Amino acid sequence: MCVMKVTVHKYLGYRRLVELTPNIAGLVRIKYNKLMEKRTLGKTGEKVSILGLGGFHLLEISDRDTVKLINRYLDSGGNYIETAPEYGHGESERKVGLVIKERRDDCFLVTKCHIRDEKGAEETINESLKRLNTDHVDLLIFHHVQSEEGLKKIFGPKGAAEAFYRAQRDGKTRYIGISGHGQPDVLIKAIEKYDFDVLMTIFNFFDRFNFPKTEKALIPLAKEKKLGIVGMKAFADGFLWNYPEESLRYALSLPIDIMVAGFNTEEMLEKDLKIAENFSPITEEEKEELFKNSPILGNYICRQCDLCLPCPEGIDIPRVFLYEGWYDRQMRDWVVRDAPEFALRDRLRFWFDNRKKATDAYSRLEKKADACTGCGECNPRCPYSIDIITKLENSHYKLTREATSVIRV
Ligand code: SF4
Ligand code: SF4
Repeated sequence: MCVMKVTVHKYLGYRRLVELTPNIAGLVRIKYNKLMEKRTLGKTGEKVSILGLGGFHLLEISDRDTVKLINRYLDSGGNYIETAPEYGHGESERKVGLVIKERRDDCFLVTKCHIRDEKGAEETINESLKRLNTDHVDLLIFHHVQSEEGLKKIFGPKGAAEAFYRAQRDGKTRYIGISGHGQPDVLIKAIEKYDFDVLMTIFNFFDRFNFPKTEKALIPLAKEKKLGIVGMKAFADGFLWNYPEESLRYALSLPIDIMVAGFNTEEMLEKDLKIAENFSPITEEEKEELFKNSPILGNYICRQCDLCLPCPEGIDIPRVFLYEGWYDRQMRDWVVRDAPEFALRDRLRFWFDNRKKATDAYSRLEKKADACTGCGECNPRCPYSIDIITKLENSHYKLTREATSVIRV
């Protein structure tokens, strides 16, 4: 097919054009100037659109719909596409490859590698390139580096790092990054010790209270090292599905370069594109309002403000709730809900499994929640109307006794 490249300045004009002539998008490749804000991806110097396309959810749709969605994203000024061999054992990469074979030059292409040894990583990288129908990606990421053991394997003798560096020397990737979920301690160690171009991790207005170190320590360090910062999980894996605008605006207002989101319907893509196209940073007042009145945070999620202290018994109340956040993201609050919401919470609460870290940390606390005498001094101090006494009981139960998600037969 002959592909003509033209420049269009008026987005609405293009939309109208496509409405009038539905097939025209397939015939004419349109380069946009100003549809979505682009930011510089740290020291790579590359310009990337603030909304990236994550490949995981492509597993849920047909090849035909995949091609349509990716083309729509690219035609809207998006240029960052990421996938991973772990998504459906290569199926996501294969689907992305359906578009890449035609439009490799239109995007900044990213894949990852979860294999920790050199030989396995090399094979995996080569297989990824084959599925993606290209001879190189722009960024190759060490996928979900969650433990120090994993980090040691990557950078130890015959570790995956050797395969990554070779791939870079051979032109199979231009840049190298690292990704991780949940608690940021391992990522902090990794970027302190090793050299990366890009960091990818989670940012959303709910988990900021469960894993506050990500915003407080990891972002500043990554900035200091001039890494590109790629966000994911703006919607907390679907938990914040009712708050698309707040979620994306909050995440994109952090000092990060790009937020990757997954789409499996045109409607979802259009909604996110609209938010990204009209993006304006969240103001301090709006942020305060979100933290104070968002129903999903409600009167259960501890905002870590410390205003309830001091406790006459010496209980470090915010710390207990922080460990509850690590344990199950403060999701089980003993409020009766309908079945779909219960199921969603139950599926998401043990996210990237930090339970052991939580129970270990709690066991080391000198004063645990069961030291509470119920004196009631703390409750009126909480600006979010959290019933601290009840929440302490709940947290103590989880952190000392609860072991399973749901009863299974
Ligand atoms: S109610 Fe419990 S936690 Fe609150 S101040 Fe009194 S002893 Fe401390
Ligand atoms: S005052 Fe409320 S929100 Fe603030 S730390 Fe205490 S319990 Fe958490």
